[in-house]
Amino acid sequence: MTTPLQPHDDQAPQAAKILGRRQWPLPRHAVAGAPLLEVEDLKTHFELPSGTVHAVDGVSFRLDYGEALGIAGESGCGKTTTALSLIRLLPSNARIVSGAIRLYGIDLAPKTERQLQRYRWREISIVFQGAMNALNPVQRVRDQIAEPLEVRLAMSAREARTRAGELLELVGIPKKRGAAYPHELSGGMRQRAMIAMALACDPAIIIGDEPTTALDVMVQAQILALLERLRDELNLSLILITHDLSVIAETCDRVLIMYAGRVAEEGSVREVFARPRHPYTQKLLSAFPNIQADRRTLDVIPGSPPDLRTPPPGCRFHPRCAFAMPVCSEVVPPEVTLADGVRLACHLYPAGTDGVPVTVPPANAVGPTVPLVVSPSDPPPERLEEAV
Ligand code: SF4
Repeated sequence: MTTPLQPHDDQAPQAAKILGRRQWPLPRHAVAGAPLLEVEDLKTHFELPSGTVHAVDGVSFRLDYGEALGIAGESGCGKTTTALSLIRLLPSNARIVSGAIRLYGIDLAPKTERQLQRYRWREISIVFQGAMNALNPVQRVRDQIAEPLEVRLAMSAREARTRAGELLELVGIPKKRGAAYPHELSGGMRQRAMIAMALACDPAIIIGDEPTTALDVMVQAQILALLERLRDELNLSLILITHDLSVIAETCDRVLIMYAGRVAEEGSVREVFARPRHPYTQKLLSAFPNIQADRRTLDVIPGSPPDLRTPPPGCRFHPRCAFAMPVCSEVVPPEVTLADGVRLACHLYPAGTDGVPVTVPPANAVGPTVPLVVSPSDPPPERLEEAV
């Protein structure tokens, strides 16, 4: 789905009011016909005293107008770092090493902090996990929603408050509840307030970083329904980061499976969930409960994700892969795109392959080199958030 470019004018946004979707013109340097968002060979690294963490290492994907993309994978696979790199909300010891992040064809990667302000919240905004931590506990919810309107869109305090009330209504909170402090709202209402804040500047893209993880299943369903409604009504594009594959199956058009900072498989939700090709995707899906499948013991992915200061050579999944062949520990598998549009990086599917899922290890498979079951006495994998 594409949206025609509007007349270029960088000055108008200062005075623009949000009257509906995309009221202000696109940035002056927008490229006609460019996809909404195109990420190419993105590399984001963290510098630690003990070494460089290759958290995102050559990730590419694309997001179109009105599309919802889910990014999934185990903890520490780089999905949140990928999303935070888009608007450079990274810790001080992280940096984008190379790659392009093209929004309307404009590369955001080389932009300065000041130049990026034109795009944060106004073009790409984010809903964080755990609204209680993300909201200011000593500021009324309405005022927190009004703040980006005053700062980014130069609205008067009065206009901003009125608009904040409208945004609260839009996400299903009576506007008079905007006078409450975050602790006076339920978990679901707080998350709705976060969504209202993300919508405040009428962005083209909203990133949801585990937006429903801290909520019970009923509230989770309501928040997902809300996101779907808003996507539909406002022609929003969504990037949902989650480890919950059912959230992606319900909400997204396409899914990107990440492993150890790289793309394992990417394609339409229907195709990838019905016919997973990459051994990691197959394991991930079989480790997830399926209400429609026969009762069975859930699968286990042996071992744990690698230390990204010293990732394994070749395919980073090879120490855990039952299909691993001698080539897998030596050569990085190139990305190939199959006839049905699914993109994946695995030596089982060389260029020109027919795309039929391989479900039995090949004759020359050497299998995983880690034990099948992680012992409770094994040390937990090092967590990036503890390290930075
Ligand atoms: Fe990686 Fe080889 Fe397993 Fe494919 S078969 S996932 S390339 S280890």
